[in-house]
Amino acid sequence: MLELKNLNAGYGAVQVLNNVSLTVPDRSVVTLLGANGAGKSTTLNTIAGLIKAWSGSIDYRGKACAGVAPHSLVRRGIALVAEQRELFLNMTVIENLMLGAFTRDDKAEVQQSLDEVFDMFPRLAERRSQNTRTLSGGEQQMLAIGRGLMSRPSLLLLDEPSLGIAPILVQEIFAQVRKINQQGVAVLVVEQNASVAMDVATYGYVMENGSISIEGPVETLKADPRIQEAYLGDGGH
Ligand code: ATP
Repeated sequence: MLELKNLNAGYGAVQVLNNVSLTVPDRSVVTLLGANGAGKSTTLNTIAGLIKAWSGSIDYRGKACAGVAPHSLVRRGIALVAEQRELFLNMTVIENLMLGAFTRDDKAEVQQSLDEVFDMFPRLAERRSQNTRTLSGGEQQMLAIGRGLMSRPSLLLLDEPSLGIAPILVQEIFAQVRKINQQGVAVLVVEQNASVAMDVATYGYVMENGSISIEGPVETLKADPRIQEAYLGDGGH
């Protein structure tokens, strides 16, 4: 289980996260919703160790994470798929995937993970030797998720996987997120596309101005007029 308690963090002197508490049980899918600039990416980046927590706690499977280096958190099972995807555009698909396995040294098991990623995203298998720069946005997102999986995580932090992607590919990517979860991986997914996120998640949090304003089981959130109005709009169901 991932547990954030009263987390405060920000940039320079500017506080962004304000007493954020949230929980991601093992093997669950939890979504973090909210408008632009609410602090969702900052939350994920703080969990992944890229931003220093000012105060409060982040525990994963009973061990404190605050102050732990990002690569050590990867070894503990936490993989971040960042909003900017952070791919090496001049490298091939397979080279980017192998970078995700940097914490692992068992070649046979890494090869098995690679096969699993290619099974999950056949488009990546077809394009394994292709330069990453020439992939579509959706394919790059698949690659970023695939690279995250190459560290064999128990918790995947996904930052806006639907951003800038054709709707058909969004469905494909979320179908795979569901499968990843069925294999036992917990997922914390940040989304502006609340509708698609709530189709996969069982519990959700809404962030406003750096604080959690609403939380609950997804079924409750879907029925909440505040959520329907602000996040589901006409595209919701
Ligand atoms: P979006 O969906 O637009 O990514 P978000 O909810 O993920 O929104 P964050 O990216 O966490 O929001 O940003 C929260 C606040 O922190 C914003 O006011 C933003 O301008 C600020 N911020 C983000 N990154 C930095 C940075 N590197 N330096 C300074 N301020 C930042």
